[in-house]
Amino acid sequence: MNNLQIKSLVRPNILNLQPYSSARHEFEGKADCFLDANENAYGSAVGEYNRYPDPLQHALKKRLAALKNIAAENIFIGNGSDEVIDLAIRIFCEPVNDNIIICPPTYGMYAVSAAINNVGIIKVPLGVNFEIRTKEILQAANQHSKILFICSPNNPTGNSMCKDELVALLQQFPGIVIIDEAYIDYSPQASLLQVLSQFPNLIIMQTLSKAWGLAGLRLGIGFASGDIISLFNKVKPPYNVNAASQQLALEALENVDLVSSRIQQTILEKQSLVKAFRQLAFVEALFESDANFILVKCKDADDVYRWLLGKCIVVRNRSKEPGCDNCLRITIGTPAENNQLVNMLKNYDANTKQ
Ligand SMILES: *Cc1c(COP(=O)(O)O)cnc(C)c1O
Repeated sequence: MNNLQIKSLVRPNILNLQPYSSARHEFEGKADCFLDANENAYGSAVGEYNRYPDPLQHALKKRLAALKNIAAENIFIGNGSDEVIDLAIRIFCEPVNDNIIICPPTYGMYAVSAAINNVGIIKVPLGVNFEIRTKEILQAANQHSKILFICSPNNPTGNSMCKDELVALLQQFPGIVIIDEAYIDYSPQASLLQVLSQFPNLIIMQTLSKAWGLAGLRLGIGFASGDIISLFNKVKPPYNVNAASQQLALEALENVDLVSSRIQQTILEKQSLVKAFRQLAFVEALFESDANFILVKCKDADDVYRWLLGKCIVVRNRSKEPGCDNCLRITIGTPAENNQLVNMLKNYDANTKQ
């Protein structure tokens, strides 16, 4: 797919949109006296937040660009990945007429965002081993299918999708392909960032909410061609990432070693948790996970879920998701939390006739 074809996927009102031009857009230079944005010149009631933030997050993008070995022009930063998902749908999908394709069981926000925008949803479920079904996806796509969402490693199943299949879809799907790599830092599989420049229809999403431990700051990242990034910049709210988040993320991104060692620790904890779960009688199956959680098939997931809630431990009940009958999704905790969980579940086993 070439850039001209990408342009034909964009909603005409977005192509023609004259974006809002903020005071900070129009004057980016240094001045002594900023009297252009009706900010409070006397200062903020706490910290130093009386000035509007950099609308395009230059410093943060520069740091991310160095870290990810990619040009800053290919980076978009959103108020969480959820904003990236919503903007992508609003840029490419005409309400009522267009649709997105999702592969359940998967992250719920793709469908919610589509529904909010009154955009159709075509579901092509994952296969028996939670793999993507390339042929079925291509068959299901029609001329109004503007975006294909694929999550890899997938939430809630934990598996990574086969790279050859992803590449085949990038080559053959007649629209935008969004690969959600929220858990890529935990995965032995390489990110698709390395092939970004080969595919004008590729958008890769990552987030600082998981491995970087910054869920509270709301920072999601989109990587794409310069043309697509320009569309995102046009449609986003002018100051979508607040000053505190920009500044704290910049500091956090200096702590690469700390984050790597926590990733390693999480992976080791996951392995011991898997070992412990294999000993539990109520566990029917465990799914290999490349993420910071495991999916556990139980004899009676609702019962285990309620038991744990009674013991003040909350996990995610995914048993109503297609292909996830009786499945709980359990996040890897600290060693102390994981021990507490396993001890409770041994009690559950002892108290339940299997
Ligand atoms: C947690 C998660 C995200 C992160 O969302 P944020 O809005 O960036 O916190 C994105 N995609 C998937 C699949 C996730 O599980």
